[in-house]
Amino acid sequence: MKRICIIGGGISGLSIAGEKKKQGHLIKLLESENRLGGVIQSKRTKGFLLDYSANTLNIRLKKTRELLQDCDAWDACIDANSAANKRMIIRGGKLITLPHSLISFFSSSFLSLRGKLRMLAEPFISRSNQPDDESVASFIERRLGKEALDYAANPFLAGIYASKPESLNLNQAFPKLGEIEKKYRSLFLGFRKIKKSKENPSLEKARLVSFPNGMEELIIKLSDSLHDQIFLEHSVQRISPQNNRWIVTFKNHKNEETDEVFDEVISTIPSHKIHSIDWNEVQGLNNISTLADAQHYPLALVYLGFKKEDISHPLDGFGFLVPEVENLKILGTLFSSTLFPNRAPDGEVLLTTFVGGERNPALANLPTSSISNLVQNELSQLLGIRGEPTFMEVKRWPNAIPLPDRQMKERKRAAENLSLLNPGLQFSGSFLTGVSLPNCLDAS
Ligand SMILES: Cc1cc2nc3c(=O)[nH]c(=O)nc-3n(C[C@H](O)[C@H](O)[C@H](O)COP(=O)(O)OP(=O)(O)OC[C@H]3O[C@@H](n4cnc5c(N)ncnc54)[C@H](O)[C@@H]3O)c2cc1C
Repeated sequence: MKRICIIGGGISGLSIAGEKKKQGHLIKLLESENRLGGVIQSKRTKGFLLDYSANTLNIRLKKTRELLQDCDAWDACIDANSAANKRMIIRGGKLITLPHSLISFFSSSFLSLRGKLRMLAEPFISRSNQPDDESVASFIERRLGKEALDYAANPFLAGIYASKPESLNLNQAFPKLGEIEKKYRSLFLGFRKIKKSKENPSLEKARLVSFPNGMEELIIKLSDSLHDQIFLEHSVQRISPQNNRWIVTFKNHKNEETDEVFDEVISTIPSHKIHSIDWNEVQGLNNISTLADAQHYPLALVYLGFKKEDISHPLDGFGFLVPEVENLKILGTLFSSTLFPNRAPDGEVLLTTFVGGERNPALANLPTSSISNLVQNELSQLLGIRGEPTFMEVKRWPNAIPLPDRQMKERKRAAENLSLLNPGLQFSGSFLTGVSLPNCLDAS
């Protein structure tokens, strides 16, 4: 049995703490804020339920189901409205439904006929020996064509990473795609074979879920079995080695500094907070700077409530994403009150719109009135909104999402180097595991 200090009480730190406790170790989790969850935060206000970061948890893998069952969260999940299967993009200034079957692929106007034929030619495209640092943009254009890049990959990646396919590294962001090309040559053929294979790690039916009180409920579930081991308002200041163990120096809410000795230390703090801790006594200090270097862009989430009758569009879907070539300022909008129940008061709707990211980082920092006007103007055109909003709130993330770019490989190597040079010291968190909640849950 070891004494393990876990730094950070976001989903990554809590998942690791739960796993280590299950293995029989003594845990102490130190969180600098006065609440758990890190970027995951749900807020009820004026009859609306807002999620400040993750809105949906996509459960595709059997492993994710097991991890949720382990912390009693599986039965508490609520499935997204079946309308969420309807995904939309903007093309020619209008909302266009993305296809979900071969028939709808031909009837949908999301791509031109030429773009669709190019996509369908994918099984005939030969394998390519691209370098390890191929971007997602290069891969998609090579295999599926330029239109698929502009009208599928580009908006999709704005939705996940608030970023552009040109900046993301294929092997870090979507390692499966590169593997499938290597093994089966074609994505279409490869996916078909994997679906039929016995080793398929995916659930038969994927679930898109949240919780009745928002995503923060997952944090409550994860922390339920750890109460005595969690210390809020305990901000780690310094990590230093001592006789094959580790001294962790932290400050509590009264600014009192304390030292404690542990066999192992696992840091799950985000890349942009790495320099808030003094690591000067660890071996291989240059690796710390590499860890702190993850690229993030600022992002604003604009929550608007409207009376149902003031919107012409039926809001009968997940929401829409905006391809960059459409030259709008917003990145996309979730139809939050369609997705899950009780997100808005009766007779009203909640829309969550994303602004900024890599496309337009400066927009995320606009004053609240400007950013809300910008969103209202674009939404009015797209959704046919007549009245004024009944509710408005803006949540800003100066460092929103660490990008799985070509430096991510270096970051993972730096974390490995640090663990080799400093036995008992480990690094995790979304900037190393990947940002999706299933990746963070699986961090241990
Ligand atoms: C706007 C947005 C939307 C998103 N949407 C989705 C989505 O729909 N679906 C999805 O799957 N994922 C989504 N994500 C990603 C997902 O929410 C994150 O990747 C994940 O929550 C990160 O968790 P983490 O524990 O790694 O980091 P964090 O949540 O950042 O937690 C790190 C913790 O460390 C603490 N800490 C920092 N420094 C110290 C210190 N010195 N001492 C002690 N504690 C410290 C922090 O206070 C924090 O609590 C979204 C993210 C954002 C920002």
